[in-house]
Amino acid sequence: MLSAESLAYAKSKIRDIPDFPSKGILFKDITPLLAEPRAFHIVLDSIAERFIGEHVDVIVGVEARGFIFGGALAARLNASFVPARKPGKLPAESDKVSYKTEYSVAELEMHKESIRSGARVVVVDDVLATGGTAKASAELVSRQSGQVVAYAFVIELAFLGGRKVLEDGFDGRIESVLTY
Ligand code: AMP
Repeated sequence: MLSAESLAYAKSKIRDIPDFPSKGILFKDITPLLAEPRAFHIVLDSIAERFIGEHVDVIVGVEARGFIFGGALAARLNASFVPARKPGKLPAESDKVSYKTEYSVAELEMHKESIRSGARVVVVDDVLATGGTAKASAELVSRQSGQVVAYAFVIELAFLGGRKVLEDGFDGRIESVLTY
């Protein structure tokens, strides 16, 4: 377990930007955390240690900030990395879902046949807000008969209730490092 002091240090590197990308949104900017190797390590360690001894086949990272943490975690957990991307970015045949975020309607795509049937998958993103993005990513995994065993986030905006959305019909784990 990481110390409360380490987690507080990591949290101190999250910058609040009011009214971005639209009025009324308090944007959690992770770039100061990424710029501090110790803080970046702390959040990666905190997520990775929760999966020690557990078999994870695939990390699905959500574009774009989920790629930063998801890629690093996949390397630590010896798992594959599969991107869930914004529309029109993936070169091969892809599957698409639409979903709602805290501030927009969006779509995500995943390459077909990128996850084998029964694979144990962890969906990773920087922020859990209303839960729509993570749930959409899980839907793309389910369509390929992959099994989402957990969601992992650096930041959970608990007051937006995303956890409840993800818990609906899901009995796996929802992990977040820093809660607001
Ligand atoms: P949601 O689908 O509402 O859970 O939104 C999660 C996605 O939107 C993540 O990919 C986040 O990067 C982004 N996001 C939503 N709200 C915020 C916020 N307040 N600060 C930073 N990113 C956010």
